[in-house]
Amino acid sequence: MSHLMNTYARLPIAFSYGEGSWLTDTDGKCYLDALSGIAVNTLGHNHPTLVAAIAAQAGRILHSSNLYRVTQQEELADKLAALASMDEVFFCNSGCEANEAAIKLARLYGHRLGIDSPAIIVMEKAFHGRTMATLSATGNRKAQAGFEPLVSGFVRVRYNDIEAIKAIANSNKNIVAVMLEIVQGEGGVNIADIGFQRGLRALCDDHDWLLICDEVQCGTGRTGRWFAFQHSGIRPDVVTLAKGLGGGVPIGACLAAGKAAGLFQPGNHGSTFGGNQLAATAALTTLGVIEKDRLIDNALAVGQLIRDGLALALAGSKGVVDIRGQGLMIGIELDRPCGELVTRALAIGLLINVTADKVVRLLPPLTFSADEARELVARLARLIGDFLAAR
Ligand SMILES: *Cc1c(COP(=O)(O)O)cnc(C)c1O
Repeated sequence: MSHLMNTYARLPIAFSYGEGSWLTDTDGKCYLDALSGIAVNTLGHNHPTLVAAIAAQAGRILHSSNLYRVTQQEELADKLAALASMDEVFFCNSGCEANEAAIKLARLYGHRLGIDSPAIIVMEKAFHGRTMATLSATGNRKAQAGFEPLVSGFVRVRYNDIEAIKAIANSNKNIVAVMLEIVQGEGGVNIADIGFQRGLRALCDDHDWLLICDEVQCGTGRTGRWFAFQHSGIRPDVVTLAKGLGGGVPIGACLAAGKAAGLFQPGNHGSTFGGNQLAATAALTTLGVIEKDRLIDNALAVGQLIRDGLALALAGSKGVVDIRGQGLMIGIELDRPCGELVTRALAIGLLINVTADKVVRLLPPLTFSADEARELVARLARLIGDFLAAR
């Protein structure tokens, strides 16, 4: 480890094999995976259809660059445009890159309108990535500290506060877009109210702003819809995807519709790897399996099972502030910092995450079964119960 830059406080285990919702470490110990590599392993581990598709594609061609047509990428763009009701797609390799594309798109849009210094409204507790622009859009001072000067052109408001945005609309003529996560991930699994989402859509229409939804974590079926914005029936102008899209193979996407479409021209933006044959095939296959195996319905049902099971098992436990989420994106907020639950969970063969200090976050694969949900609830409720009882 000594030659690795110290960017992660890594746990001292390594996994060597996975199957479905289960991982095995190099010592042979088994773990139930309720995190799926931070919402990445959509189909669980070692899904036979995905493995076969990747192997077959690797045996033909991995990459040709975007100087040539990539038919798999064209097919994937068609598929995503249809699923999200969007017009066009740019492919990249990660969430922050997808958001960089969205931010550049918003600025270009502003300049087209004659706004020389375009600004984007962003949310408190937002997480949009670690590159300079996406870090500046992120609402976490700790993540930004030491990397100033930040990129300018972001105005921050409280999440779910439509009045604050209306006030800015009246005072700041440089606004060109609003960017948010419909379900905040790193910020603690916070859900945008349906009324807030619809209000935002109307406000963006009234002021000719772009509505940008960062669905890097909550997209690709996780919340029990293909995209989280579909719960409220709004259509954003820009949607960003990554994490779960390739089922474990890195790929990001920035989707645009209506007034956000047709802005980029050759030379405005690009990516060497973006949407290459391997990544596009992995994403197409992942989407295909989600569809064929009805994994979105599964996410909705199994997510409900987990939340209901935890609510029942933890009923009366003082210290549980809230159990919330949509589909298989679940947060259990406690009344105290609980980061140590991650290592305690490891000891009992369970992979979970803690974010925003006090929120246990669950992001199981969309293939999670009802039996696995019951096993997760049993292990986690005991863990949280013991933790809360200890003080
Ligand atoms: C993880 C995440 C990102 C950043 O994605 P990377 O692939 O790590 O760059 C951006 N937005 C949201 C909502 C995320 O959860």
